[in-house]
Amino acid sequence: PRQFFVGGNFKMNGVADSIKSIVSNINKAQRDPSTQVVIAPPAIYLTLTRELADPSVGVAAQNVFDRPNGAFTGELSVEQLKDAKIDWTIVGHSERRVLLREDDDFVARKTKAAIDGGLSVILCIGESLEEREANKTIDVVTRQLGAVAKLLNEQEWSKVVIAYEPIWAIGTGKVATTAQAQEVHAAIRKWLGETISPAVAENTRIIYGGSVSDGNCRELSKEKDVDGFLVGGASLKPAFVDIINSRL
Ligand code: 13P
Repeated sequence: PRQFFVGGNFKMNGVADSIKSIVSNINKAQRDPSTQVVIAPPAIYLTLTRELADPSVGVAAQNVFDRPNGAFTGELSVEQLKDAKIDWTIVGHSERRVLLREDDDFVARKTKAAIDGGLSVILCIGESLEEREANKTIDVVTRQLGAVAKLLNEQEWSKVVIAYEPIWAIGTGKVATTAQAQEVHAAIRKWLGETISPAVAENTRIIYGGSVSDGNCRELSKEKDVDGFLVGGASLKPAFVDIINSRL
């Protein structure tokens, strides 16, 4: 039984006032107690969010660096996040892979560094429209996962939530169909079973991201290999609570 997981990725949105009101909305809402909730505000609001959010709500950074400290202007370390009482980080979001040219190995090193330092990781993977149309979806996501698998031992996979986020579905309103999501999630789980272990395949949460809304979350959440969502735009709105409660 994998715990249903709903992440909110605020991306580069919000200022202190709006983030306070989003967090207070989540705090006050009736939330399905069986859903694990983790929200990822912009880095400058991590401590504010951690102070205001209910203790049952996890807080994630949107990114982390792979080195412990030193001359890396603009970056944040795992130790600094832990010091700020942050327990999670997103890594490998497609916006960073594409716009900031993060490659598979860099994402894998960040994942390893985060886990070594005691963080849990939301590891984002996913194909572009061009890759999907060339029937390369499974090749792409298994290549992205393979880079991480080179650095993690079996135990360390318990600290990872895999977010399958097809790039063509992000921020486009063009959500994957339930069949499209289920097909890729099942392929990822099969790959985990063959590459890591049957237990890791069974226990790892594989969540879907890309235009998830209060309108489409319920259907998607019924798919057998969809263990939750990573929500962008809708995580800034009251609809986020309906997505948390998809399975109620
Ligand atoms: P949207 O929900 O805005 O499509 O964004 C998804 C996403 O990228 C979450 O990380």
